[in-house]
Amino acid sequence: MDITEKTVKEDVAGKLASSVQAFVTSQPQVPDLTTVDVAAIVSVVVSGGAQTEKKVPAFFPADDETAKGILAEIGGSAEIIVVPDSIGMSGENKAITLKSDDRDTYAGLITTAAQKFANVDLNALLERVKAKTILVQQRLMSGGDLEMCGTIWHEYGHVLHEPKETGNVFNHELTMIAKHRKGDLATWIANFRPLRYLARYVSEPGIDEMINTLKTILVPDEFEKFAKLRFDVVNKTKVDEKEPVVTTVTIEVQQLVEGTTEDIWRKAGLVGEIVIDGEMTTGKTVSFGGCTWKVESHYPDEADEPDPAFDTFRLRRLT
Ligand SMILES: [Zn+2]
Repeated sequence: MDITEKTVKEDVAGKLASSVQAFVTSQPQVPDLTTVDVAAIVSVVVSGGAQTEKKVPAFFPADDETAKGILAEIGGSAEIIVVPDSIGMSGENKAITLKSDDRDTYAGLITTAAQKFANVDLNALLERVKAKTILVQQRLMSGGDLEMCGTIWHEYGHVLHEPKETGNVFNHELTMIAKHRKGDLATWIANFRPLRYLARYVSEPGIDEMINTLKTILVPDEFEKFAKLRFDVVNKTKVDEKEPVVTTVTIEVQQLVEGTTEDIWRKAGLVGEIVIDGEMTTGKTVSFGGCTWKVESHYPDEADEPDPAFDTFRLRRLT
């Protein structure tokens, strides 16, 4: 029998395949193993591919090139790495621009994820993980062109400007989409960057610049919509800055409180306009401050019609 390298390989491959299959079958409690591609493992081992395949400083080299191209389209240049979806971003975000204070966290996540990628040159990859490196989840790269571009251009705004969601960052994002994907601008705003979001989450610096951009790129009706949303947000903020309205009643259940309605309001820990539901007459139940109260008595004369502005009352908190 003529033994050649080929027949040796075939023999080894056959034995290896049954050995891998036997191992997988013997571990039914490990769910990951049921999806093991036996033929792929055998082929890599027998061809020596695991040793000879060149390692690269990337998870998905082709996707990294695509992402770089999207940056280049707007004249941008930054380190951008497409990472497995298992690397979480904040909330539902599919991309993040690293800062010096979260760089190490993401380097750790990348190190863990790289253990499942035989071809990743981890040390070289980690050299790319720096402050202002953009990380993009791979699922973004299978979304549409608009989502990819808009998201990556937004992140590049963080590279150029602030790490926060500032007017400068949104201004950059919107300007780039208006310039390079004008026809898709309305879709971007409808699906990915609602006006409500811009109005609510934008922070200084650059809010005025962003508003000017919106004025230029939105149709008048849409801009009006934005302006109204922004007005509401700004005025809500002003309300929040005022002394907060105390709604917690400081009188205990069954405790008595005595005085004019104004005294009672103050003693109960309430501020703002006095609003009492019900009739302030002896024996009746009234409600205010989210509690119910029994009018035990009122002065000066219980028989007369009480005058809540001047009379004094004794109220017991019931609930
Ligand atoms: Zn952002």
